[in-house]
Amino acid sequence: MAVGKSRGLIIAGIGMALILGATLAAYRTPTPLGIDAAPTMFSAARARELLKELVGDGVPHPMGSPADAKVRDLIVKRLTALGYTTELQSGLACGFGACGTPTNIVATRGEPSGNDAVMLAAHYDSVPAGPGASDDGVGVANLLEIARVLSVMPAPPKHPIVLLVTDGEESGLLGASLFTREHPLAKHIWAAVNMDTRGVSGPSLMFETGMANAWLMRLYGRSTLEPITNSLCYVIYKLLPNNTDFTIFKAASYQGFNLAFIGDVAYYHTPLDSFENASPTTMQHQGANALSSLLALANASDLSPPAADSLFFDVLARAVVVWPVDFVLPAAVVALVLLAAATVLLIRRGQLSNSQAVFGFLGALINVLLSGAIGTALLALLRFLGRLPPMQGLSWIAHPLAMHVGFAALALLTTTAIAAWFARRAGFWGFWFGASMLVALLSLAIAIVIPAAGYVALLAALAAALGFAPSAWALIKERRPSQGAADFAALFPGLIGLSLLLPLLLLLYPALGAPAWPIGTIALCVTGGFLLPLLVHATRPARQRLTVIAAATTFGAICITVLLPTYSESWPQRVNVEYWVDADSGQAHWYTQTASLRLPRAMDETLKFDPVPRDRFQGYPLKGFFAPAPALKLALPELTQIAPNAGASAPGRMELLVRSARGAPKALVIFPASAKIHDIEVATPSGPLRAKLQTLNNGSTVFQAPGVAEGGLRFWVTAPAAPMTVQVADESYELPGDLPDGKKLQQARPKNATSSQDGDVTMVQRTVRVDPAAGR
Ligand SMILES: [Zn+2]
Repeated sequence: MAVGKSRGLIIAGIGMALILGATLAAYRTPTPLGIDAAPTMFSAARARELLKELVGDGVPHPMGSPADAKVRDLIVKRLTALGYTTELQSGLACGFGACGTPTNIVATRGEPSGNDAVMLAAHYDSVPAGPGASDDGVGVANLLEIARVLSVMPAPPKHPIVLLVTDGEESGLLGASLFTREHPLAKHIWAAVNMDTRGVSGPSLMFETGMANAWLMRLYGRSTLEPITNSLCYVIYKLLPNNTDFTIFKAASYQGFNLAFIGDVAYYHTPLDSFENASPTTMQHQGANALSSLLALANASDLSPPAADSLFFDVLARAVVVWPVDFVLPAAVVALVLLAAATVLLIRRGQLSNSQAVFGFLGALINVLLSGAIGTALLALLRFLGRLPPMQGLSWIAHPLAMHVGFAALALLTTTAIAAWFARRAGFWGFWFGASMLVALLSLAIAIVIPAAGYVALLAALAAALGFAPSAWALIKERRPSQGAADFAALFPGLIGLSLLLPLLLLLYPALGAPAWPIGTIALCVTGGFLLPLLVHATRPARQRLTVIAAATTFGAICITVLLPTYSESWPQRVNVEYWVDADSGQAHWYTQTASLRLPRAMDETLKFDPVPRDRFQGYPLKGFFAPAPALKLALPELTQIAPNAGASAPGRMELLVRSARGAPKALVIFPASAKIHDIEVATPSGPLRAKLQTLNNGSTVFQAPGVAEGGLRFWVTAPAAPMTVQVADESYELPGDLPDGKKLQQARPKNATSSQDGDVTMVQRTVRVDPAAGR
């Protein structure tokens, strides 16, 4: 085989392997520092001892529960022992269709007086299903370790630091809302660092900042040792429905940083989010980055940085590159103009014909479209074969490695196939033109729509222009570019593009699940377009060999994925069991909701379930399996219409009281679509507070009252002055003790399944008729 001809391809292969190795090495989480680390350093070993004290018992502690109060007391004790003035803040707060009464912990050293305080925040409540060791016990333990570091620092930072441990984050960011709305310290704060999670392991990502994004990113890059961050994640996060307390801090115009990790999402919001499963290396990464960025904010001299977005990304987790977003469009135009000039030069010197340029561009474009189409079809095939969870479930699987490799091989397969089909018509420079124009046009399009998102294409386009320089020099001298110069023109942008793309691909699957695969294949084909010209230089047997290897790898990966189970003990599917009483009909059911939309056999054999899954109630977004259950006489949830005080209320406005007569910790009210009730109002000491309600599939709206106190919760709604039928329900976080079938179902839940979120619950539901015109 003529190695000389395939030299570019061989260098590309070696370059890709080196980039993959360097990226994997750089994005490993750091070694945790031990108990005996210097007192001014953040030590994950010390934080882990605190974590054990907080959540080592494995007991869930949702807002309002006795376990929640126990965790709160432990945190207060620790902070007080460190010399902090600690205060509890309790009150009614609303958010995301829910209202409840969180109790925040606020700790300070010395009273902040100016508007320069910096806040460190984490939440101590967990979901009802699990102990929340990582979510957000790790954040709280890290906050306590950082509080200790601050207490031993020889000189205090320039600006005061406030510690906030919020409650009710899981119920709708309630504690953070209460703090920013009502706490006197809230107005003294100008920036916050928030620690939270959507998993139990992996590197700590800085994925959201305050409005002064450009200024903050420079600060973050300078201050943290191992920054992992990029503006594409930031753009994607803003598009997703996820929220953390930082959403509230940002709405209060605080600057600052939001940190989270997303590895092992299967454990997130389940009983497996335990102390044992919390990663010490992740704790070290998150804690050290939180401490250094907190101190950077607390020592900042400019407290009114301009609100400006930027394009940013980290370089191998060691430095952060920040570009003002205003540079993006001009840079994309410059890249396009330079590449156009290069094309003109190639044509003038007879190296490229018009038809070669057309075929080269078509080849590069078809490669991307074809890989996207095949990738999407593969995903549909896996779903059809039952190897991917259905749309309603979370789309991660127990053994994803084969598909990571398979979808990368698919990109190579379509690229080699396109090279074979178009090689003669496009030639080296035709493909180079096609790949360059594709990234240049893409970066221009992204620069116009979402400038911060397109840095991979933009830098690849600029690199294409730069990489052409040696060839341009030869052409200007009226010489033919050497093979080395030509290969360099393709290798340089291709490898630059890949080195920027790989860190994103590593995050994409943990972030999005299976849809990340075809997206990754498409992205690889965009930057991998620069392989096309190198494949033209390579010999035909070399090209064919690569095609066969890529095809075999893709096919093998599919086979492996089809043969391996979708769920495992260490990657369980989510299966909740619910005892559900419909008080109107007097009937009760077992209701089992599974992520796979298949009932585990052992559970199906325990009770006689309907084979077809149904909505829990009309408009409910998820389907589950029903089996009849004996109806227990449980006290019914109450929704009472309070008589209007004479002349006080506007027409259609009514006051309601929702209450769980059996003392369940959560109540829900579902208004019919016809009532058009989209928000409710509650009274707080600082005035009325509105909560926007969630809308279900059938247009009805839901109001949730988590952690509802014995006296219930009073609220107002405004509706057309006609009587309406409202559903009211309450939920307790366990199955009834006196029904053996419940215990049997729980025991039949296989090892590769786990409860999640609210966990196994008892729900009692009834309808109540209310009339806004009554008593008027
Ligand atoms: Zn959380």
